[in-house]
Amino acid sequence: MSLALYDTWSRSVRPFISIRPGQVDLYCCGPTVYDHAHIGNLRTYVFEDLLRRVLVANGYRVRHVVNITDVGHLVSDADAGEDKMEKGSRRTGESAWAIAERFTAAFRSDWKALNLLEPTHWPRATDHIPEQLAFIAALQDKGYTYQTADGVYFDTSKQDDYGHLARLDRAGMRAGTRIAMGEKRNATDFALWKFSPAGAMRQMEWDSPWGRGFPGWHIECSAMASKYLGPWFDIHCGGEDHISVHHSNEIAQCQANHGTRMANFWMHGHFLLDDGAKMSKSSGAFLRLQTLIDRGADPLAYRYLCLTAHYRSELRFTEEALTASGAALDRLRRAYAGWPEGGAVDADFSARFHAEVDQDLNLPRALAVLWELVKSELPMATRRATVDAFDAVLGLRLAGWQVEEPVIPTHIASLAAERRRARAEKDWEQADAVRVRLRDLGWDIEDGEKGQRLFRR
Ligand code: AMP
Ligand code: ZN
Repeated sequence: MSLALYDTWSRSVRPFISIRPGQVDLYCCGPTVYDHAHIGNLRTYVFEDLLRRVLVANGYRVRHVVNITDVGHLVSDADAGEDKMEKGSRRTGESAWAIAERFTAAFRSDWKALNLLEPTHWPRATDHIPEQLAFIAALQDKGYTYQTADGVYFDTSKQDDYGHLARLDRAGMRAGTRIAMGEKRNATDFALWKFSPAGAMRQMEWDSPWGRGFPGWHIECSAMASKYLGPWFDIHCGGEDHISVHHSNEIAQCQANHGTRMANFWMHGHFLLDDGAKMSKSSGAFLRLQTLIDRGADPLAYRYLCLTAHYRSELRFTEEALTASGAALDRLRRAYAGWPEGGAVDADFSARFHAEVDQDLNLPRALAVLWELVKSELPMATRRATVDAFDAVLGLRLAGWQVEEPVIPTHIASLAAERRRARAEKDWEQADAVRVRLRDLGWDIEDGEKGQRLFRR
């Protein structure tokens, strides 16, 4: 079976075929670095990492761009309020530039801890001001912009299909709820360039043909994606909250400038919920990966937890769920570490595993196949080789795992001795009965070259 992915643009799972043979170009909206990433943000990056690994498993080379938003993301999506970076600077007393550095470094460390594959490009918005200015100038030349007292705006009324990604009801929006419009002509219009407030010096500001100021948030992604991946590329990703504003606006800009909807597939990860509420950075109350680590959790247990839910369903975070994921990961590691090398991948299990991940990244079902394999009666070396191959997608770093010999309780050890005796006496019935008892007590026994070996199930 071949790869099929859900595309938010068409609202359907459809076969994935790359634009260029053998290569996939992938753009993922990255962090706004005014604070730490929370584990909700990180769930989205885990989803994108799984996507990348599945593409690689399908034989593609992947160019993967993750931008760093270090300017222009305002507190409100309606282009009002302060820049999050400048607000962060007031909160901590550091400069906006220092904050960006600090939280970018922290983000990269979370990235490594979760065993996410390094992107091929990590472009920063502030390193791409000329590209953004050129993009805005092109939009102006094509007649899509207008200027107000506080900035240069994109006129969404010039596009009949503006908001298609989000299935926006524009007529309803015009007639319905009041939205803070300022001098905007349409509720959905958005800032391309904002002027620095009169009389105030921003920490991050640049000259432009329209006045001193800073870029809007959406233009950075359109400009950087076009620069690194061209005007039409394979997949654009982000969290589900981006569909209605940020991604709709990225598409509007590219539609106007290049005549494309940017990417062939638009994919969105659903939210991580914290006790039923969305985890949000702006609310300030959120869980960091480092907090989980400080409480004794393994970061890869969080990765495992993400694998247990499909990326298009919400996932409720609880400490119990994290503990259960940690225990499952531990069981997997111990089983794996007890198996010898030198086997070959089992074709049947491999086909079943890949059929699941190729069907819109069905990781929960793929995990079920993995556990069926672990508990199977296949030779241990075969299981090891097959799990190794699965781990190229799962990213649980099994190969590097060093296991301590398990501490074996006395009653388990004496059952194992009983089985050894039964086998020596060729009493197979008794040997099997003991194995079943051990299983019921949570232990597996394997017969290797060096005799019996016990490990936790
Ligand atoms: P931000 O740093 O706020 O720009 O967000 C970074 C990424 O995390 C974006 O792709 C968001 O859509 C995503 N995101 C934000 N909150 C959550 C959440 N609670 N669960 C999953 N993804 C999220
Ligand atoms: Zn973006």
